Amino acid sequence: MNEFVERQISLAWNDPKPAYDVVIVGGGGHGLATAYYLAARHGITNVAVLERKYIGSGNSGRNTTIIRSNYGIPEAVRFYQRSLELYSTLEAETGRWVMHKQKGLLWMAHTEAGVRAERSRATVNTLFGAKTEYVTPQQVKEICPQVDITGSGVWPVMGASYHAEGATARHDRVVWAYAEGAMQRGVHIHQNTAVTGLQMNAGKVTGVQTNNGPIAAKIVVSAVGGHVTTLAAMAGVRLPIRTHPLQAYVTNHYAQSFDAIVASMNLLFYVSQTARGEMLIGAEIDRQPSYSYGAGHHFLQSCSHRAITVLPFLRNLRIVRQWTGVCDMSADYSPVMGVTGVDGFYVTTGWGTWGFKAIPAGGEQMAELVATGVTPELIAPFALDRFARDRTMADRGSAGTH
Ligand SMILES: Cc1cc2nc3c(=O)[nH]c(=O)nc-3n(C[C@H](O)[C@H](O)[C@H](O)COP(=O)(O)OP(=O)(O)OC[C@H]3O[C@@H](n4cnc5c(N)ncnc54)[C@H](O)[C@@H]3O)c2cc1C
Repeated sequence: MNEFVERQISLAWNDPKPAYDVVIVGGGGHGLATAYYLAARHGITNVAVLERKYIGSGNSGRNTTIIRSNYGIPEAVRFYQRSLELYSTLEAETGRWVMHKQKGLLWMAHTEAGVRAERSRATVNTLFGAKTEYVTPQQVKEICPQVDITGSGVWPVMGASYHAEGATARHDRVVWAYAEGAMQRGVHIHQNTAVTGLQMNAGKVTGVQTNNGPIAAKIVVSAVGGHVTTLAAMAGVRLPIRTHPLQAYVTNHYAQSFDAIVASMNLLFYVSQTARGEMLIGAEIDRQPSYSYGAGHHFLQSCSHRAITVLPFLRNLRIVRQWTGVCDMSADYSPVMGVTGVDGFYVTTGWGTWGFKAIPAGGEQMAELVATGVTPELIAPFALDRFARDRTMADRGSAGTH
């Protein structure tokens, strides 16, 4: 599919009703995908998505669009592989061009420990359904000729894991594909509608208070990205989440020839090329938890320095744009999906720096939970109560930003 065969769609923006079966707070990818799958897979359409700004204004419109399933623990590999598969058929399912492109992803190692980690990643991935192999420095050079495998003589590339199915998709198109699909089936989306409180009765969530008045709901789903601790606190739920800013930037145009996605697990940066030819670069979260959307020169300097060590051609480019999102970082670097212990109140959170790739599977699975009241097997390991049960899903090394 391409932009010339896209259909024009006229959407009906409705006034809020006083009550819905399901209210989803947050018009990012996860909230909208949950609404879409509720309508498309379960025929539940008396649903509202409430977004305090415009849809996609949170992290879903700010990320570096990398889609992969090369995680380090079996539960995560299975979950993200499902998402990767849903992404590959999303254009056919929604009829919208989301610019999905399989590129292959190199995770380079520069130390003996890094080599062991990437070898073990390839093994775990292969065992649980993701296509990842260990490759030598010479193979790295063949896959991405721009890589200086001597690492400027400082950080030589000692090997890498290569995840052939690694891909990208245009983030705001993904948001709009789900939004349009949901609205066409009868879901209401209300922008400029901030949830300021939760209505509760006898320990059960019964609706939301918004800047435009109250809305009753049988079920409220929190999908508010980095603002989740505030919203959950309204229901008396304490989450093992901290919010950290994450920055990214793009350079001016470079000739279209950088086909793979390249990341360094020791130097903590990742690079891909956009359809416009910009080099898109990201790195680790800001250490200090905060809700700040400020972008700093220190980040640009430090990240560029590391990236140029392995990709020297970058030094000839100019940085043209930089931005920040605020990420819901969970204590074990895995998502938190499902029931909360408060009747009628569900969360999809802990998406940190890795939740764009999870939008299709996260939405599909949350919709199944809301529709059936039963936690699907695929997301059961990511339940909130794992922290109380001492069953954390520790996978820090797969965040890509640690
Ligand atoms: C710079 C950067 C790079 C990233 N790169 C990648 C990547 O390459 N691959 C990847 O998989 N992930 C990546 N991520 C992470 C990914 O973007 C997020 O995990 C994902 O988008 C989360 O989606 P979401 O729907 O949960 O949250 P969001 O998209 O943040 O949506 C939450 C929405 O809730 C709204 N909201 C908040 N509070 C309220 C309220 N009280 N009432 C109503 N609405 C409210 C917000 O306005 C927002 O629109 C990156 C993130 C950043 C910041």
